[in-house]
Order: sequence, then structure tokens, then C-alpha cells
Amino acid sequence: MKRRDLLKYISVAPLGAGLTVSGLPALAAPDKTPAGKDYIKELGLRSFINAAGTYTAMTASLMYPEVMEAINAVSKSYVMLDEVQDKVGERIAQICKAEAATVTAGCWSAMVLGMAGVLTGTDPKKIAQLPRLDGMKSEVLVQKTHNSGYVHALTNTGVRIVEIETLDELDARINDQTALLWFLNAHANLGKISHEQWVAAGKKRAIPTMIDIAADVPPVENLWRFNEMGFDLVCISGGKALRGPQSAGILMGRKDLIKAARLSAPPRGGTIGRGMKVNKEEVVGMLAALEKYTSIDHAKEWKSWMDQVNFIATTVQKRAGVTTELVIPPLANHTPTLQIQWAPTRLRIKPAELQLALRNGSPSIEVLSNEKGISLTVFMLREGEYKIVANHILKELNNVV
Ligand SMILES: *Cc1c(COP(=O)(O)O)cnc(C)c1O
Repeated sequence: MKRRDLLKYISVAPLGAGLTVSGLPALAAPDKTPAGKDYIKELGLRSFINAAGTYTAMTASLMYPEVMEAINAVSKSYVMLDEVQDKVGERIAQICKAEAATVTAGCWSAMVLGMAGVLTGTDPKKIAQLPRLDGMKSEVLVQKTHNSGYVHALTNTGVRIVEIETLDELDARINDQTALLWFLNAHANLGKISHEQWVAAGKKRAIPTMIDIAADVPPVENLWRFNEMGFDLVCISGGKALRGPQSAGILMGRKDLIKAARLSAPPRGGTIGRGMKVNKEEVVGMLAALEKYTSIDHAKEWKSWMDQVNFIATTVQKRAGVTTELVIPPLANHTPTLQIQWAPTRLRIKPAELQLALRNGSPSIEVLSNEKGISLTVFMLREGEYKIVANHILKELNNVV
């Protein structure tokens, strides 16, 4: 922030304005523009404490201040869209140890564009022709347990999904129509074929492999792990735990494939990807997020999450009959997650009712509910919010007769 902007900002946020009634320090800067406009209030929107996680419907994550600073700075100049993509792509590729990279309109868009690049190469006729596949390959092999709704990004290009389960089936099913082998990292433990076997199968038959790691940092190493492993294309969301723009993502991998994928992306029109525009602010914001994310002390951050989860666990257990369990999902949303449960005979409240009470409280708090209780994470909380979450859950539980 420039000094001038900072002064303007301070003038609408007098000292002490950040203190809440409970005396806790400011959770975040007020939701106001420097000119004093509060869009959330003006539009009558409900804002909330996000103890649920990086959910698209909840706007996923809050961008790092460094990302907003980058966006503001770059918004003041014209540049060529392809040039900013070239330069940012090089920097991202370096950070993620990939041959090449490009910023896309989310992980989903990375999958569409990557698929398009695999199908068309640099042939302008084929690029203009998608999603009609005449003269192109038409099948993508996917493990049955990986066949989630996200494959729609691939079928958008006209290909169809072929399910297989075992390595033998994969080998037998590859033919001259096989365009791609697609792997969903979040379901890696559900399938019978490992990452390494998947990559080896692709290399053996010269079929490109793609992996979706949308929500799979932390750990930070996942940013380069799959490039180093040999996947030809890696797709990740920019606006989940990376805390870049929600509508950004990264496609990275083989140089020839990234080059081909970009031919279906803006500024070029008459392509399948023309609607997946990423503006220069998001392109640079994505880089800023990646630079920030790879520079933070992840061990320290993890410890802070554990401390917060433990505080919430200790607090809510003050209500007799309530128990907690710490769960750390091994893949995707790999972060300390607290399951809070109770004997239904002792506390007569359903998990969904507690979830709703927290949502309707002041401040509004979002958590998840399941059959046994509610679950929450702390990695998307702003500073100090864990105490509010703990106290509000305890208060609601104490209200139950
Ligand atoms: C969120 C998600 C996507 C879509 O990512 P966007 O960045 O929202 O486009 C794709 N695959 C998986 C597994 C996801 O969790």
C-alpha cells in the first residue's frame, strides 16, 4: 500500500475501531473501500467466519494481502496478455520445477485447456474444430474410483471417458483412440493403480498423463512432486489453499503441451477456451500467491493450526457428553480437522441443527455437519477467530437441554 493510500485508509478506520465487543483484537481490516463504501453491508450480504474449509460455494479462501497488492499495482498498466502469460508462466514453472506453465481460469479450466492441447497439438484446423473430434483421438482412460464429476472438464472437448480398474485392464484398453490417461490425486488411495504405475504406463505407450491436484496443498511439496514424478500435465486450483484469485489456477507440465493448450485460450478467439479468460491481474495475482505460499514457514503454520484445533477441542469438551477427534485427511484438504460429536441421548440436538444455529448466530460461523456431529478446520480462519468459534460452539451446546 502506498503511503497516501494508507493515510486515506486510516482516516476511515480510527484507532480502536478494530476492537470487537468481546475485547478481542481486530479479526481483519474492515470490509470497506478506502472511500468508505461497505459493499457487503450495502448489498445485504451475509459474511461469516469460515471454519468449513476451501469450498467453492463459500468463495474458498481469502487472498493474501500480497496478492491484492500485486493485483492493484498491475491494474494500472496495459501489457500484452500473451506476454504476461509468457513471463509469469516461466516463473511459475521455475517454482514448481515444471518445464512450462500457464495461468488458467481455475483447475477445471486447466483440465479443459490441457485436454484440448493434447488433442489438437498446434494444428489450427483442429483447434477451430473442437469439440468435434474428426481426425483426433477420442478416449480418456480413468480409474473407476477416480471418475468424479470433474471429468466433465475433459468431456467438454468431445472426448469420452473409459473406466478401467486394474493395471492389466489399463494395458489392454489402450488403443489408437487413447488420447490421455487422467488421474485424480484426491482419490489416489481408492484406486488400484498408483501414481508411479500410471506415469509408467503412459510413458511405455507414449500417451500423455494428467493429474488433478486441485485442493492438494498442503503439503507444499505437492507443487513439484508430480512434475518430478513425470506426469505430463498437472492441474491445480489457485484460489483454494494457495490463496490466490478464486478464479485462477495453474496448468503446468510438458513444454509442447502447454504451448498447444494456450492456442485454445484467450486472447485467441474461435476456440473452445475463449470463455476461460484470465485477466492480467489474476495472472500476476496467481504468481504472487505462489511466491507467498512457497515462502511461508509451513511447519510453524501447521503448529499454529494444531494449537487452534486443540483450543477448540478443549473448550467444547467443557460440555459434558461432548467428545472430539482430530482427523487429518491424507490427500486433499490435508489440514487438521476437528470432528465434534455427542451422544444423541445426552444432547438432544441434531448435527444439522447445530450447524444452522452457528450459521444464524452473530457472528455467523460456517462448519460442516455429518451423521455423527459437526466438523471444522482452522486453516481458513482469520487471526483470533478460533476463540470465537470455540466459544460459540460451547455456548450453543450449553443451550441444549
Ligand atoms: C475444486 C476442484 C476442481 C475445480 O477447481 P477450480 O479451481 O474451482 O476450477 C477440480 N478438481 C477437484 C478435485 C477439485 O477439488
